[in-house]
Amino acid sequence: MGSVWALVSTALAWDVARTEAGDTIRWVEAPVEWQLAVSGAPAELDVGGAAVAATAAWQGVPGAELAFFQAPDIDLGGPATGTVWWDAERTSIPDDQVAYATIWSTDGAIFAFDVAVDPTVEWATDGHSDRYDLQAVLTHEVGHVLGFLHSDVEGAVMMPGKARGDLDGRVLAEDDEAAAVTVYPDLPALLPEGCSSGALPFACVLGLLRRRTS
Ligand SMILES: [Zn+2]
Repeated sequence: MGSVWALVSTALAWDVARTEAGDTIRWVEAPVEWQLAVSGAPAELDVGGAAVAATAAWQGVPGAELAFFQAPDIDLGGPATGTVWWDAERTSIPDDQVAYATIWSTDGAIFAFDVAVDPTVEWATDGHSDRYDLQAVLTHEVGHVLGFLHSDVEGAVMMPGKARGDLDGRVLAEDDEAAAVTVYPDLPALLPEGCSSGALPFACVLGLLRRRTS
């Protein structure tokens, strides 16, 4: 039973934000629309590439239904559901952080987000070992955007405190993928036996609803 004990002892794994009633806080509609506010972005960085890769990491989880849509870049504030922006005054970033994600939700449904990035930090998008990797940090922040909290699992993207030059944070760990699959299960995976996602007979929809709420 050693392996069972091992599972129990790593219980402090991925976690998700919850309402006061204990319901999971998550997106209920796809895709999650976002855009880059380019004002103040360090010119030498491939900010767009890093941000797209960060969303793609979560979107690519097998068995999870996650989709992002990138609206055209803007200068500062914009109409998209969520914005990744450079917070020159650090008004939205706590002292010991290099970036910070905020989500807004009603009854557990996230409807907006904001990822503030500190432009005064030494960033890199080329893997520079002495700088913070923008893609890795944004991959972590996108996890927060999806409603995930920090994880204690070593190597997880959602483990806080990424070091300079840490490129491992670009790639989701098993713990991160488990969060995505559990909170955002793929529709076909939810369908009862004999039901396809193409055509949904009433009995299948009923079964789907039953499984969604269980
Ligand atoms: Zn964090």
